[in-house]
Amino acid sequence: MADIYQSLLSSPIGRQLLTAVSLPVPVELDRHCQSQPSFITGNVLIGGAANGRLTDVISKSLAASNAHVQVSQESPSKDAFDKAADKAELKLTIIDPNAEAAKFKGLVFDATGIENSTQLRALYDFFHPVMKKMQSSGRIVVLGLPPESCKEPAQQIAQRALEGFVRTVAKEVGKKGAVAQLVYVTKTAEKLAESAIHFFLSPRTAFVDGQVVRIGKGKFDTTDFNWNQPLKGKVALVTGASRGIGESIAETLARDGAKVICLDIPAAEADLKRVASHIDGSVLPLDITDPEAPKTIAEFCKKEFGGLDVIVHNAGVTRDKTLGGMPDHFWDMVIDINLSSEERINAALLDDEILNEGGRIVCVSSMSGVAGNFGQSNYATSKAGVIGMVNAMAPILAKRNITINAVAPGFIETQMTAAMPMAPREVGRRLNSLKQGGQPVDVAEAIAFFASPASAGANGNTIRVCGQNLIGA
Ligand code: NAD
Repeated sequence: MADIYQSLLSSPIGRQLLTAVSLPVPVELDRHCQSQPSFITGNVLIGGAANGRLTDVISKSLAASNAHVQVSQESPSKDAFDKAADKAELKLTIIDPNAEAAKFKGLVFDATGIENSTQLRALYDFFHPVMKKMQSSGRIVVLGLPPESCKEPAQQIAQRALEGFVRTVAKEVGKKGAVAQLVYVTKTAEKLAESAIHFFLSPRTAFVDGQVVRIGKGKFDTTDFNWNQPLKGKVALVTGASRGIGESIAETLARDGAKVICLDIPAAEADLKRVASHIDGSVLPLDITDPEAPKTIAEFCKKEFGGLDVIVHNAGVTRDKTLGGMPDHFWDMVIDINLSSEERINAALLDDEILNEGGRIVCVSSMSGVAGNFGQSNYATSKAGVIGMVNAMAPILAKRNITINAVAPGFIETQMTAAMPMAPREVGRRLNSLKQGGQPVDVAEAIAFFASPASAGANGNTIRVCGQNLIGA
């Protein structure tokens, strides 16, 4: 379904009209495309509070970009960044961020050195002079310490305060199509932050906004890692791959180098074959609620590929009705497809060790699972259960060097949302900081981030791909 509002905006008269009546004017978001670098370009200002722990990993990450990296002459972390940049062979320019002509595509702030609320002033000092100098589709990343890992209450309080700061900054820069995220990095997991810095500073995060991600311990050496083909040599299975978000996930994982097994119900086989043929993938027509499905999947992966590296649980359905009027088969079907079948498939892949060492399980939850939604008690329960599954299994899987994470989409432009009545569809589209719906590829990019071998430190996270929807946290 065409975004009529967006079409109106693309005409000068329509744009003038909407601006005159103070309606939101969404900007066109930068997204990753093959012909452009997958990492940030343009001016990136880095800084931090004194005694930050992440100057090395920030410098190393940015050394791999084509960005023009700058540090403020006033920054308390200037000397630390100078040293780190030398080590990483990063060309660092010293600038005055107050200069009128200064403009920034990216801002990166290391807040790990903040130990108490007074020191939060470092955020103001860094961001205040540059907030009005953010460019369209800019990227902001603040890095902190997980509050629960801080021994001193004063530090725990200050680190927790970063969430309110980042979520607000995201709301303030949203009108420019810019996004802001908070990455909490556990002590001793510093090197593993590289994957998150790459992702959150890239055009791949067009519709990820105001999110908090935790990076903990994990096994991965990024030396000589190919950031452009992170899944080279890996085998990934995507459920519900015949259309919509699943199709985009299959394409994105294939773009990143994976051999993709495309799974969907037998009735969707023709579309499944179409998707698989574009990406040189395999086809597995199967209903995931079939009692034999876990065994069939395990045997297929073992026989065809000797195992599996990534499974993406994307297949999902809605059967909406308010609870009082909901027939029991609506309840049973939604819980079985969206949640129970995923548990059964995971069990089969893990019990038979089909999921290889370093394996990745990525689930698709939903904003309904985060905030609830009228008429979706079955769907919201299943999608909140998916978040529960991620939380429950992450520590267990960590022992096997396997991660599990989820992505919770908000309003994404698919057949599902095109079928909505116009009024709720328009409201759904606009009620976020970016004032527009997301694209299936935005969900796929977040899944590819979790699927990457370099994301070994990301385990037990749920990130929303919702443009910072105003509903929910
Ligand atoms: P879609 O309906 O276009 O695609 C879902 C796919 O899952 C279909 O191809 C369908 O055939 C497949 N599927 C359903 N039941 C199956 C079964 N039993 N076995 C195998 N395959 C099965 O939906 P979409 O919009 O692309 O959504 C994909 C995922 O994203 C779903 O989990 C959905 O709940 C979630 N999601 C979507 C949105 C959105 O705005 N579109 C928002 C939040 C969450």
